[in-house]
Amino acid sequence: MGNGAKAAQKRTRNGDKNPAKQAKSQAKVNEAARSIVCATCKQSFLVTTRAPALEQHAQSRHEKTMAQCFPGVDK
Ligand SMILES: [Zn+2]
Repeated sequence: MGNGAKAAQKRTRNGDKNPAKQAKSQAKVNEAARSIVCATCKQSFLVTTRAPALEQHAQSRHEKTMAQCFPGVDK
């Protein structure tokens, strides 16, 4: 019984070291360097901006579709 608890504790300690976390933050920096630019008014948005926000910009600012203002951006 005691061995099982010890093994679980060891697993938890190993889980604290998380090399994937470091790689993820680096990817985030690279992502932030790029941006989405509106083809109509040249306003730039973070590449992480969600499609609904881009669509809202296109519609409310220009009465256009997202495809017209942000060609190449996937919905
Ligand atoms: Zn615009």
